[in-house]
Amino acid sequence: MIVVMKAHAEESEIDAVVQRIQRLGFNTHLSRGVERTIIGIVGADHSLNPGNFEVLAGVERAVRVLHPFKIASRDFHPEDSVFEVSGVPVGGDHLTIMAGPCSVESREQLLETAAAVKEAGAHILRGGAYKPRTSPYSFQGLGLRGLEILGEAKERYGLPIVTEVMSPDLVPLVAEYADMLQIGARSMQNYALLQAVGKTNKPILLKRGMMSTMQEWLMAAEYILSNGNDRVALCERGIRTFEPYTRNTLDINAIPAMRTLTHLPIIGDPSHGTGKWELVTPVARAIIAAGANGLIVEVHPRPEEALSDGAQSLKPERFAGLVRQVRAIYDLLQEERHAEE
Ligand code: PEP
Ligand code: MN
Repeated sequence: MIVVMKAHAEESEIDAVVQRIQRLGFNTHLSRGVERTIIGIVGADHSLNPGNFEVLAGVERAVRVLHPFKIASRDFHPEDSVFEVSGVPVGGDHLTIMAGPCSVESREQLLETAAAVKEAGAHILRGGAYKPRTSPYSFQGLGLRGLEILGEAKERYGLPIVTEVMSPDLVPLVAEYADMLQIGARSMQNYALLQAVGKTNKPILLKRGMMSTMQEWLMAAEYILSNGNDRVALCERGIRTFEPYTRNTLDINAIPAMRTLTHLPIIGDPSHGTGKWELVTPVARAIIAAGANGLIVEVHPRPEEALSDGAQSLKPERFAGLVRQVRAIYDLLQEERHAEE
């Protein structure tokens, strides 16, 4: 349930409602908007009656939240969440572009890619050091050496780093190097991992599981949020369908659906969403046109030599074209949004 306070309710009235909820044995989550404060009741609250809260001073209304996700829900937090990844804003009116190779393969490969994606306008550098590969015989990533190379690229080019963490015991190490921790599609329902990253102070990029519903994905976000970490961005990276031509089917519906259901930023991944480099730019345009807050794109200077995901990696010059196109679409949408206001 959420308790919506009247515009300009007194602090003492807000406090009294919070105390009342806590005395009943529930946690609260406060969302302070420009106009009004919303108090979320966190926990199994079906036994509570909204009418009992509506009689309290300063309360405008109390309503049941129909979704099982709470802190992630837009009902709890009507305004877009905006946060920074080491100085780079994510969410709200910002267009955030993350790019880099699927895997960190060598110092030369990563530095070359970092220079190119920065030049093309990327804000955050991606690159996997610990790789979740379908086959145990495939390249598994450089591990700690990969993290060190990412650290060097960050220092040299001033780009914050997003990289995947696959297990709870690696969270402290990966968090030493990463500015944003990526939870991969295969780990979306690893609840021990979600709890571990929820206890860090690092922003999280939570990829959608390849066979997960939107609700399961938001419940995964709820694990992170309910452990105290409120900087979570969602990443639509395609789901498994009956179509074998593409690696996954990017669920374009999920972009506007997430803008409605949640206040969390939504980032689209046209690389894993298609699996084919020639589809990446058109699908990236669609992602931004559908209202996403940004993109994560795989870029490799020599895709034919890539140790993972070469078929879906863009060469730097093609990536530069993608950035120009999506920026034009984004600017047009922003103009329209401001004209409506
Ligand atoms: C990746 O980003 O390289 C990756 C493994 O992505 P996903 O978890 O979406 O498959
Ligand atoms: Mn990849």
